[in-house]
Amino acid sequence: MSRIGVFICHCGTNISATVDVERVAEAAKTLPNVVHVELNKYMCSDPSQDMVREVLKEYQIDRVVMGTCSPRMHELTWRKLLSTTDVNPYMLEVANLREQCSWVHKDRDVATAKAIDLVKMAVAKVDKLQPLHTTQIPVTKRALVIGGGIAGMQVALDIADAGFPVTIVEKKSSLGGNMVMLDKTFPTLDCSACICTPKMSEVGNHPNITVKTLAEVEAMSGYVGNFEVTIREKAKYIDYNLCTGCGACETRCPSKVPNEFDQGMSQRTSIYKLFAQAVPAKPIIDPVHCRKIAEGKCGVCAKVCPTGAIRYDDEDRITTETFGAVIFATGYELIDWTKIYGEYGGGAYPDVITGLQFERLVNASGPTEGHILRPSDGTEPKNVVIVKCVGSRDPHKGVSYCSRACCMYGAKHAHQYLDKVPDGKCYVFYMDVRTPGKGYDEFYMNTLHDGAQYVRGRISKIYQEGGKLICKGEDTLTSSQVTVAADMVVLETAMVPADGIDELAAKFTVGRDADSWLVEAHAKLRPVETNTAGIYLAGTCQGPKDIPASVAQGSAAAAKVMALFAKPKLENDPQISVVDIKRCVDCGKCIKVCPYQAIEEVELRGGIKKAHVIETVCQGCGVCTATCPQGAIQLSHFTDNQILAEVNALCQY
Ligand code: SF4
Ligand code: SF4
Ligand code: SF4
Repeated sequence: MSRIGVFICHCGTNISATVDVERVAEAAKTLPNVVHVELNKYMCSDPSQDMVREVLKEYQIDRVVMGTCSPRMHELTWRKLLSTTDVNPYMLEVANLREQCSWVHKDRDVATAKAIDLVKMAVAKVDKLQPLHTTQIPVTKRALVIGGGIAGMQVALDIADAGFPVTIVEKKSSLGGNMVMLDKTFPTLDCSACICTPKMSEVGNHPNITVKTLAEVEAMSGYVGNFEVTIREKAKYIDYNLCTGCGACETRCPSKVPNEFDQGMSQRTSIYKLFAQAVPAKPIIDPVHCRKIAEGKCGVCAKVCPTGAIRYDDEDRITTETFGAVIFATGYELIDWTKIYGEYGGGAYPDVITGLQFERLVNASGPTEGHILRPSDGTEPKNVVIVKCVGSRDPHKGVSYCSRACCMYGAKHAHQYLDKVPDGKCYVFYMDVRTPGKGYDEFYMNTLHDGAQYVRGRISKIYQEGGKLICKGEDTLTSSQVTVAADMVVLETAMVPADGIDELAAKFTVGRDADSWLVEAHAKLRPVETNTAGIYLAGTCQGPKDIPASVAQGSAAAAKVMALFAKPKLENDPQISVVDIKRCVDCGKCIKVCPYQAIEEVELRGGIKKAHVIETVCQGCGVCTATCPQGAIQLSHFTDNQILAEVNALCQY
């Protein structure tokens, strides 16, 4: 006969303010096989955990019900506690008396009755549990970082400095991400390239880091400690072993196309380096525009290359490698405002530009060598309008969330404009000014002292008239209509997840929120982990953030990976599915639905085929158990018998 101990927590007043915990404890004492009930104000505190150990010993308890906060919050705490006792850590059931009870009810009687039901169900289930034991799996101590922007580089450097090999997969032809396109960074106004390019070079030269550019993840299988990842490196048409990066090819290439790095405001050749300080410092050929590859003509670059490095017949390279951990650092893109803001001209007016285009204009290495000039005629704008929240906080047009960096980004642009054009006028249209970072509000106040005129309201229309951009809006503080005849308009557009993130996340079974940002396992307790063990998040792939926050999150993700790699072996969670081969009819339905590809078909003696769960891959999600028409798969700790015992307990009393 089992001996069940029930521990009910007040959680300060979180539970006890709404639930009569004494009544719950009294009810628990009457339940079958319950040998002891204990009440405590803070069950998770150290002294209380000592008390639990003592009680387990004194009453020879072999199964435990914790009437506390949610399993998500503290199930691991209780398991760790039990692992220091004679009770198997999986002979535990958590009755969620806080998130699913006291926090969602106001009526004390109703909440108390529900708490009693939850404890009854937990006691009925714990009575049916079987001890489970972890297995050990080896760890490949090598990390894969997807994305070579500032967050990805930070993760890679931290892990590599700790002595572990790292591979960065970057889809562009250089490291640097979005940050390297910026001119200065707020609030200190230090030059973005001065921060970013030394990091790029450190990454490029680090003995523990391999950088794969123009590369993408093609496929993934495996599990924490042993992910098999297939990477496609697209053809660069240059033999990097021979190329010295001399640049002779770029100067002679006759094919010119808009330069993406300068946001279309300059031109590049078809053989090109992404930007001057690119890492690797070698060019690629754009096969769509290269006259030799596309039309069989030209071939000038091969003629001028002193090392014979050009390879017009180059092909993609596909490799498969094993990694112990994967870090997403896939960054963000800016929303395409031209599709949603027809009232701003929808891209028809050359002097209505994005914040990123402004960054390139004001940058000394940009198309105007740092002079702020109108794209339409190359003259200096004397009236500039900056519009914040373009696409942000506007679910009807763009996204509902705040892009977080744009308030400071807009303030920085106002400062930079007034610094370079002291006789100019700058109007900033805003919904709110949000400056919560260190030194951010001071920076914004300085922008006001610089002379920026902030107008609270959205711009409702922009049109061209007499060489000016007429911006019409409302000042919501004075309830008056405002019209500004501007020479240039800068739109601070919303951040959105990087293109292709849905597909990539699906390959790694990483969850996405309603806006397609990747989802962390727990906002406060596990902010850089995902719900798939061994996969971590860094930077803006998780949601809009500024550079300091991206770097901090990169280092946090690296710390998690290092903690994983510090273990000689990993313990596998035993709460996984098991196939009863007597019942399995090999219909294959479970194989199709498993989101982790954890089920395979195996051939038994006599050629009979059955489903088999690969225990290291199964994440215990339970989808297969709900799908199997034969009831042949059971999820350990959530078997039909155990769940039915809970249901019966609820219905019986
Ligand atoms: Fe490389 Fe040849 Fe071009 Fe020089 S000319 S950058 S060696 S491909
Ligand atoms: Fe076997 Fe059930 Fe899977 Fe069908 S769904 S193969 S019966 S375990
Ligand atoms: Fe796949 Fe079933 Fe394991 Fe979920 S519980 S990961 S569906 S085998």
